[in-house]
Amino acid sequence: MVVKRADVLGYCMGVRRAVEAAEKAVHENPDKKVYTLGPLIHNNSALESLKSMGIQVLSESGNELPPEPADSVVVIRAHGVPPEILHKFEKSGCLVINATCPRVLSSQKRAAEYAKKGYTVILAGDVNHGEISGISGYVKENNADCIVVQNEEEAKRINIENKKVVLLSQTTISVEEYNNIAKALTIRIPDIQICSTICPATQERQAALIRLCSDVDAVLIVGGRHSANTKRLHNTAVSLNIKSELIESASEIPDSFFELDRVGISAGASTPDFVIDEVEKALKT
Ligand code: SF4
Repeated sequence: MVVKRADVLGYCMGVRRAVEAAEKAVHENPDKKVYTLGPLIHNNSALESLKSMGIQVLSESGNELPPEPADSVVVIRAHGVPPEILHKFEKSGCLVINATCPRVLSSQKRAAEYAKKGYTVILAGDVNHGEISGISGYVKENNADCIVVQNEEEAKRINIENKKVVLLSQTTISVEEYNNIAKALTIRIPDIQICSTICPATQERQAALIRLCSDVDAVLIVGGRHSANTKRLHNTAVSLNIKSELIESASEIPDSFFELDRVGISAGASTPDFVIDEVEKALKT
């Protein structure tokens, strides 16, 4: 059997940085307990691996401080946190490692700059996502209004008196959803500034999967069933009418895949390298 990987798959830059920061924190602080503020990644295998290194998870709400702050390291995940949470942990006496993805940091900075200039900031994204609450925090810190719009329908109902309005986005929102929101808002607020902060990582994985599908008989999408971008990859494979399966680990490879000549592998942005390696190895044996 020929096994072919998509030319872009697995960890995105921000997730890889955050995982490496947590692992480094363990090695460099043998006398301290290492915590992450919320689960570092939407992948059970990766979380188990971090747990086996002694890394513990604090509530992502930011309400829970480590029991002994002076002997603790707290890693902020790639989604980032609102500034008040960051300051609270810094003041508590623990060592804070801010592993917020540089792209998210740039969105936070941009949102704060617009807020300082008196803009109302609209964020296109999931109101319950950590990245969105982090960015909102930077707007509110600068005494401006922040409104989260989750879809086109919500955008059509928006009513703002401020003439200065800017639209930013969650880095992982789909381009199509963002464009629909931007279009609906432009009708209601003609002077709105449209400023896409979508990260190309999701698009790059989608494009690589589409290329891969033209070259194989079937494709395995490796990743967590709760990972939005893994599910989106699987949906793309389904829409291309190619035999496909979303699996979390090598043990879930369906028997029928072992009878094929050419199998492709893609993986979501939160899937660790070792899980992808195990899937490839299982197919080849
Ligand atoms: S998807 Fe993009 S913005 Fe989000 S963590 Fe990964 S690299 Fe950073």
